[in-house]
Amino acid sequence: MNLLEVQDLKKHYPIRAGLLQREVGRVRAVDGVSFHIAKGETLALVGESGCGKTTVSRCILRALTVTSGAIRFAAKEGEFVDLATLPKRQVRPLRRHIQMIFQDPYASLNPRMLVGDIIAEPLKVNGVPAAERRDRVTELLELVQMPPGARSRFPHAFSGGQRQRVGIARALALNPKLVVADEPVSALDVSVQAQIINLLLDLQDRLGLSMLFVAHDLSVVRHVSDRVAVMYVGRIVEVAPTDALYRAPLHPYTEALLAAVPAPDPARRGHRRIAQGDVADPANPPPGCAFHPRCPYAIDRCRVDRPELTPVSDGRWVSCHRAEELDLAGVR
Ligand code: SF4
Repeated sequence: MNLLEVQDLKKHYPIRAGLLQREVGRVRAVDGVSFHIAKGETLALVGESGCGKTTVSRCILRALTVTSGAIRFAAKEGEFVDLATLPKRQVRPLRRHIQMIFQDPYASLNPRMLVGDIIAEPLKVNGVPAAERRDRVTELLELVQMPPGARSRFPHAFSGGQRQRVGIARALALNPKLVVADEPVSALDVSVQAQIINLLLDLQDRLGLSMLFVAHDLSVVRHVSDRVAVMYVGRIVEVAPTDALYRAPLHPYTEALLAAVPAPDPARRGHRRIAQGDVADPANPPPGCAFHPRCPYAIDRCRVDRPELTPVSDGRWVSCHRAEELDLAGVR
């Protein structure tokens, strides 16, 4: 059963110029994105910086007003509300169901508040009595594997990984239906990243978490996601179950992201090609397939005809004119 259904989501920013500030163009930060997240599922949204993935997550949280499209969220079993169009005062009571884990555990925790108060803050805002808040903080600290004494210390007493555990505890305080994790490990050392990923895996098992996991590369999402959606210049170019995507990427951009993932044995990367050049400008994307200036497989058609995201097999979607022809079992 789906918890979230995003359909044809667009977020454009007008570019204005001249004395009258007329609109002369648009930055198409998100340009027609559709995906769903089932109950208990983790979807990773992956792409280089500027691809629009954080904008998508901010639209879901209603931190941004969408240009068009629908964000249907099952606030109650089988009853969807469209977060994209819901008036702000009706969004407020729904916020408890969608919580965020932030990228930077140093900046996202108030340095003047005790850890216990930080974790209890969402409970307080939602009117939970003090005694219940105390018990819940104890429970949450145990859940994220922090000592009970952590509640009476300030964030600066802890390492980056421990602070991120506090951020996770705060995000889980209200038992949200959906957690949006925006690059939750990218500010941490590699060894600490693995610990936080293991914690998230444990929480998935114990709580049946549903999660949108935003990341800029494919190295961190492999173990934590059920499916992966790859974004390039405001659009999704491939969606696939995680194992299938890592085994055989169908889109050349996914192939390039995988080629950039450090492998213990470089020979195992095979002949996957790393993309050359810079990410296209969303204010002025290339015609046809936006990836064509960087794509080693581009043909004439790619320069004029934009490919649509099309189903290719069970649960796999790809937007590439040559997806079938280049199917990776053999050619790449
Ligand atoms: Fe490359 Fe063409 Fe496929 Fe775009 S449509 S990814 S340019 S082969």
